Amino acid sequence: MSDPTPLHATAARPAFGAVFAPHMAVADYRDGQWGAAEIRPLGPIEIHPAAHVLHYASTCFEGFKAYRWADTSLNVFRMDRNIARMQQSARLLMLPVPDSDQFAGMILDLVDRCGDDIPEAPGSLYLRPVLFGTTPTIGAASVPPAEARLIVLAGPVWDYFEGGLRPLRIFVDNQHLRTAPHLGEAKAGANYASALGPTVAGIRSHGCDQVLFSLDSGIQETGASNFLLIRNGQILTRSLDSTFLPGVTRDSVLTMARGLGFEVIERVFDVDEMLAWIQGGEAALCGTAVVMAGVGTLVYKGREYPVGDGEVGTETRRLRAALMDVQHGVLPDRYGWMTRVEPGVAHAAK
Ligand code: PLP
Repeated sequence: MSDPTPLHATAARPAFGAVFAPHMAVADYRDGQWGAAEIRPLGPIEIHPAAHVLHYASTCFEGFKAYRWADTSLNVFRMDRNIARMQQSARLLMLPVPDSDQFAGMILDLVDRCGDDIPEAPGSLYLRPVLFGTTPTIGAASVPPAEARLIVLAGPVWDYFEGGLRPLRIFVDNQHLRTAPHLGEAKAGANYASALGPTVAGIRSHGCDQVLFSLDSGIQETGASNFLLIRNGQILTRSLDSTFLPGVTRDSVLTMARGLGFEVIERVFDVDEMLAWIQGGEAALCGTAVVMAGVGTLVYKGREYPVGDGEVGTETRRLRAALMDVQHGVLPDRYGWMTRVEPGVAHAAK
């Protein structure tokens, strides 16, 4: 049988995350150890209806991208960071922790196998590992799962803002926590379940694109990205703590910004300070999917506050372009963020 036509050659730019490459990498944890990983055709999996994850939400995931460069090589962005964050999430959720080398091998083997499904720049291959507890027992709410499965999915994605960046409308929610404060730094499925109600309510009732959560202790993050303020050569963002996700894009943008001469300030700040900062400043979301997105309007307590002139800021565009140029191999990789995939070399999965 001949290989299927690459997805990017046939798909008409579907929504982010709606199409998948035809393979997945799978490894199971049982009897105190990880078994051999394998690449399988993408397809449904069987799961026992008593599986721990279905009842007690023992699951976490990751999201990052691989790129095809002009020289045809395939390169993964900061996969060591995403592996480390998945391990941290697993620890916080008391799930078996993926083995670093095996996990990296599963990712590299899958990207190699899915190479034909990576669209040209500015497209990329989105990688979505998911880890979940499979122990079939429903009397175990207070017992960590002894069995688990790790699956790495992949799918072609295109530039989130095809046709140009547009300024976003963001609702500032100071009524709800996005997650339980001790679990915000885990990329736990339960955190997204916890945020869904307030996020949908904020988006629907205020015609917004996203919700920015603001705790008593200050501005936090949106439902799927970190938040930055930019003004007069300075960048202000919340300092890392257990309440929110330590974004790999956040770290990358801050690192590049320092290299470009920005002063980066990481500390807690509140809504009043944010509203002062956006007069003549910029606000941006940053995360794997959007890279960087400019905020045009903040909606807070029924009032609308324009950010700067209401358009996507110049510095937001500049930082976004600089990061994308590294990811796509246009600028040199001076921070050692890209992992090149060696074609045809089996790393973990046969
Ligand atoms: N915060 C949340 C809640 C997210 O879901 C994401 C996206 O993954 C981020 C922040 C940004 O993280 P990263 O830059 O690693 O994608």
